Amino acid sequence: MITVEDAQLRIVRDKIPLPQELTDLRDALGRTLHHGLVSRLDLPPFDNASMDGYALRAEDTTTASPTHPASLSIDGLEAAGHPTSVALRPKTARKIMTGAPIPPGANAVIPVEEVHTNGVILSIHHPVPLGLYVRQQAQDMRREEPLLSAGALLTPGLIGILASQGFVQVPVTRKPRVAILATGDELVNPGTDLLPGQIPNSNSYALAAAVVEAGGLAIDYSPVADDLDAVNQALHRAAADADIILSSGGVSVGDYDLVRTVLDREGTLDFWRVDMKPGKPVAFGTIDHTPFLGLPGNPVSSLVTFELFARPLIRTLLGDSCWQRLTIELPLATAFPEVSDRRHYVRVALRRDEEGTLKAWPTGRQDSHLQTSWLDARGLMVVPAHQGPLAQGSIWPIMMI
Ligand code: AMP
Ligand code: MG
Repeated sequence: MITVEDAQLRIVRDKIPLPQELTDLRDALGRTLHHGLVSRLDLPPFDNASMDGYALRAEDTTTASPTHPASLSIDGLEAAGHPTSVALRPKTARKIMTGAPIPPGANAVIPVEEVHTNGVILSIHHPVPLGLYVRQQAQDMRREEPLLSAGALLTPGLIGILASQGFVQVPVTRKPRVAILATGDELVNPGTDLLPGQIPNSNSYALAAAVVEAGGLAIDYSPVADDLDAVNQALHRAAADADIILSSGGVSVGDYDLVRTVLDREGTLDFWRVDMKPGKPVAFGTIDHTPFLGLPGNPVSSLVTFELFARPLIRTLLGDSCWQRLTIELPLATAFPEVSDRRHYVRVALRRDEEGTLKAWPTGRQDSHLQTSWLDARGLMVVPAHQGPLAQGSIWPIMMI
């Protein structure tokens, strides 16, 4: 049995990002940038006003005071999008709107609230510092300087940056194709009446959603029968179609746990047990050189192990090296009686108590077949093996999911 960290390392090591494809900027949200990009333009493209006011020469105001104000004659108006390109002469000022280019010769802007004027003459009661309320050309981005790094997650903010740099298409990493094989003779897909002994196949739906959320494309082959030939065929077919194969069920030690047998025989098996709860039986290896993760069949275990092992693999193939979830430390709102001989990932809700303190609230019983333990879950509380019972108020790390 290996640790979660060791398993994660074995899964992501040697993995390189998939090839690039071009996507329209409008479709780029949530994608990862395939390679670094360099600025095409200065931003701002020209010096411009950051306030509505008057553009002037700072040197015309150096001796200004309430008793001896500087008097400047107003020579016109600069509006955003309509540069006059007329140079400002000494002892003059020009009305200017936020975002309008600073006219040649001017070097500061005094806000409209700080001046006295009759519409023709501007009187200024204090010296105006050089550069006041001027946004400098290239202050934000400079042409030919590095802009975004490879693997960057394209958020609305980054999409705005790309738009202001004139990118219409963006080189992103192709989405990993993830094959999903839920195994089990008892499984029927939703929408079909259950015969005795059958249960709904929920894993392949939950896993497909998790794949999409992680940035991949899900291809579902479920359900796959508990039959050596069926498992064998499904695995080889998936290997031909996909970048990653995920199975659920059949990796434990039951009489019909055939996935591991096939993997052993037809591919390579790296490990098949991890020191964690829920989800000890997790197998990792390859089929026809395609990485394979065999997740446990219990619905909670399959999603928790997806989170810990499949998501890092998907993110790594996307070129995102920051796949670790944010972990925060929070006090437990209630005592937690369970003690496990393996590291326990407890589903918790995050809410404030009556005093306003943010706390972790375990979502009821944590058995690996109880899917309702996901209700309200916003994090996984990480409890070391043999710790507990945990006291109310004790502080534990929470992986934000
Ligand atoms: P297994 O690992 O195949 O022994 O499955 C463990 C438990 O999870 C059994 O009770 C299965 O019926 C259940 N299970 C397996 N696959 C699924 C699935 N796709 N959806 C819901 N439950 C499942
Ligand atoms: Mg099974």
